Amino acid sequence: MNGYVDRSAYPWAASYPSGVDWSAPISDQPLTEAFDAAVDTYNTNSCIEFLGKSFTYGQVGELADRAAKGLQDLGVGKGVQVGLLLPNSPYSVICYFAILKAGGTAVNFNPLYVAEEIEHQITDSDTRVMITMDLELTLPKVTAALGRTPLEKVVVCSMADVLPFAKARLFQLVGRRRIARIPDDGLHLSFAELTDNDGAFRPVAISPREDVAVLQYTGGTTGVPMGAMLTHANIAVNARQVTLWNPETEYGGERILGVLPLFHVFAMTVAMNMGILIGAELVLLPRFEIGMVLKAIRRRRPTQFPGVPSLFNALLHDPRLNGDILDSLKFCISGGAPLPAEVGREFEVLTGCRLVEGYGLTETSPVVTCNPTGGVVKEGSVGLALPGTLVEIRALEDPGRAVGTGEKGEVCISGPQVMAGYWRRPDATANAVRGGWVHTGDVGYLDADGYLFLIDRLKDLILCSGYNVYPRIVEEAIYRHPAVAEVTVCGVPDADKGEVPKAFVRLKEGESLTAEELLTFLADKLSPIEMPRTVEFREELPKTMIGKLSKKELVAEERAREHGEDAPEAGA
Ligand code: AMP
Repeated sequence: MNGYVDRSAYPWAASYPSGVDWSAPISDQPLTEAFDAAVDTYNTNSCIEFLGKSFTYGQVGELADRAAKGLQDLGVGKGVQVGLLLPNSPYSVICYFAILKAGGTAVNFNPLYVAEEIEHQITDSDTRVMITMDLELTLPKVTAALGRTPLEKVVVCSMADVLPFAKARLFQLVGRRRIARIPDDGLHLSFAELTDNDGAFRPVAISPREDVAVLQYTGGTTGVPMGAMLTHANIAVNARQVTLWNPETEYGGERILGVLPLFHVFAMTVAMNMGILIGAELVLLPRFEIGMVLKAIRRRRPTQFPGVPSLFNALLHDPRLNGDILDSLKFCISGGAPLPAEVGREFEVLTGCRLVEGYGLTETSPVVTCNPTGGVVKEGSVGLALPGTLVEIRALEDPGRAVGTGEKGEVCISGPQVMAGYWRRPDATANAVRGGWVHTGDVGYLDADGYLFLIDRLKDLILCSGYNVYPRIVEEAIYRHPAVAEVTVCGVPDADKGEVPKAFVRLKEGESLTAEELLTFLADKLSPIEMPRTVEFREELPKTMIGKLSKKELVAEERAREHGEDAPEAGA
């Protein structure tokens, strides 16, 4: 750790793992330049492996240049938004860098969104060109937006073209119904047409701290989707901060399992952008399907695996998982949602692989803290502030006042990865970023060693008889029951107490448990106020697009039930 850093202001400083320096200079050189450097240095190395087919850095670089020229010919340049509505595939990487090279802004879309949500995001972001795939799941929803939104052109990528030969044929024969036909209307063009040029795009001068590279939609703390404006500096710096965090990185020798969707900010930075910076191979999978994941692990022997807790949990409980197949992994990073201590522990025991938890949010590009990959990991903590990043805990009742070690409050973040603001939402921006500090809406504390512990989110707090009940504490206690696979706890209205906790539980395959048995198990683990008033068992629990357990659907159902509308029957 660098000597002139004030240790009281930077409590994590003394805990930094060896080889990592909080005050290391971090370049904000745009990622497009780092991408070009990787293409030169690792030219013949594999950059992407997709279901058995490899694409070298040289090939990916050439296609990105040609796609950049094709996009410029469509009018893309500074200030033009280009959408990416793609499941993970080589196109995700090629087109992302092509947009940035052309000078445009990439807008990430979730391909699973319904047409209405896609239209809304196109209009809100002023997306002019959309890049999607020739799948029934994606193309018709984009085509429908033409003429009703600012969208002018659609680029259609062929799934068959990126599959290995045998699979391409299989896809054409067996999966024909899933392939969408490209309309011949002058508004659609194929990726092959887009890239049918010499790749000599016009270089665009980028101001890294001003020019927006990515519009990343998020509900923030308000729940209304807004585009977080991530500048070229934001995304480049965050990829470098994550790289600095692991001094053992083998440049040109890592293989990253990319099963999380690259249209989500976590995988965008920790799998794709960091992967490109270090010349890694990205082992991409179009969706999370355990059989496919296990096959990819056997085939490519990845060294790093970023995931969300529900993904590690699902792997852990799959009978096909044999700890041995994970022996190529140096570490797994869990982020995006709380990693239940039981899941982390069981995963490490079964696989022998280190599972380190990190924390971040869209507004911070996203990574803020991480447990050391080679130092002290504190269970239940999301780790230490990354290089160049400040974490401060502010009093809940007085957001201007920082509280001391061990005291709970709102987690606030400052650093070069903090977004430029929400797109066209000055009020929301002023509320979320005050004096350069992002107010995260997460509640937590810093311990004496500077490790951050998250307790919960402000909006998920349950106010029960005037007391704060943190759903996460209740969830952790329920996870300790061996029959429980997943649990979500939220507050439900109660005439007497205002709100009371309710637990939604999914049991492990073949297990049985009653609400009474669970409550008896919890009796010595929770205070009466935290004890769930109701337990409902379900086959499935709602999840967000990257597989985080999601409370909002359950809260809405409870509200509907309260108002006498149709709602599913309670199981217990
Ligand atoms: P998003 O912007 O959609 O990625 O969501 C960010 C939010 O996810 C944060 O504000 C946290 O509430 C939550 N989150 C991210 N990582 C963690 C973690 N390791 N533990 C608990 N919550 C997390």
